Amino acid sequence: MQVIYGSELSAQYKAELKEELAKYAGFRPAHLVVIMVGDNPASLSYALGKKKACEAIGMRFTLRHLPEAIAEDELLEIINEYNYKEDVDGIIVQLPLPKHLNERRVLETVLASKDIDGLTTYNMGKLFLQEKGFYPCTPLGVMAILKAAGVDLRGKRVSVIGRSMLVGLPLARLLTAQDATVTLCHSKTEKLQDICKQSDILIVAIGKARFIDHEYIKEGAVVIDVGVNRLDGHLCGDVDFDDVKDLVSVITPVPKGVGPMTIAFLLSNTVDAYKRNMGGNTND
Ligand code: NAP
Repeated sequence: MQVIYGSELSAQYKAELKEELAKYAGFRPAHLVVIMVGDNPASLSYALGKKKACEAIGMRFTLRHLPEAIAEDELLEIINEYNYKEDVDGIIVQLPLPKHLNERRVLETVLASKDIDGLTTYNMGKLFLQEKGFYPCTPLGVMAILKAAGVDLRGKRVSVIGRSMLVGLPLARLLTAQDATVTLCHSKTEKLQDICKQSDILIVAIGKARFIDHEYIKEGAVVIDVGVNRLDGHLCGDVDFDDVKDLVSVITPVPKGVGPMTIAFLLSNTVDAYKRNMGGNTND
């Protein structure tokens, strides 16, 4: 059984990105802006995690922290302010947003060329057409983990549990592009256990602590756990790691699994945006 630590893999990605940015010494730094509305502690902790990661590779980071009660028009104006700033390469609107804000309208306001989370209609369309664009970071992280583990997806039965726009749905698209045969499951799926038990690869993104146990696992399966849950004051995934570990061939832990890879691809997408904005200017 192989445990794949996304934390180690992401350290390699970050080192490469740092080297890439070092080629632009003397020019303006790459710059990521995170817009956060309200005081959700989990969102703040995610935003500060992004700050730390940016600064570690020499990327500028701005957190624009806005009051919970902000009017939608005012928020859209602030996003537009960053859309037109030439020294901003990437913009993230931290989710979830307070209920009075229309999430789709807010996300759609981010300029596609700065939408490094890949959540605008434009970038979603690019993903589904498999054309160049920004793809969501967590699915990219999962694909990189599968590649690092040497998993051949071609013709394999893959089940993705969870169909969110952020994780499950784009991931199903990426897997299909690699010739996997994908079953996209959700809360209304019947016979979920049977489907999972027939899957060579199982990717779980539902947000239910330790929901998947040995009853869902085919012997020798590859299991990727995207879930992040808090249980008795500790972080845990959607998979009961200890219960399935003797059955699987490859598994990711939580923490130190998919989460750090999401951050690595957020940085990678921002570096791509920066390089495009800087044209051919480097010290190479
Ligand atoms: P989400 O938007 O709440 O979507 C959850 C999905 O799971 C939905 O499609 C839902 O089905 C499905 N689901 C819920 N209960 C289920 C059940 N009992 N059986 C089958 N399907 C079920 O969540 P998300 O944003 O995709 O996130 C999922 C998890 O991944 C969360 O724990 C989140 O914290 C974590 N996450 C981690 C990272 C990372 O970097 N590691 C990044 C993003 C998210 P319906 O569509 O039918 O409601």
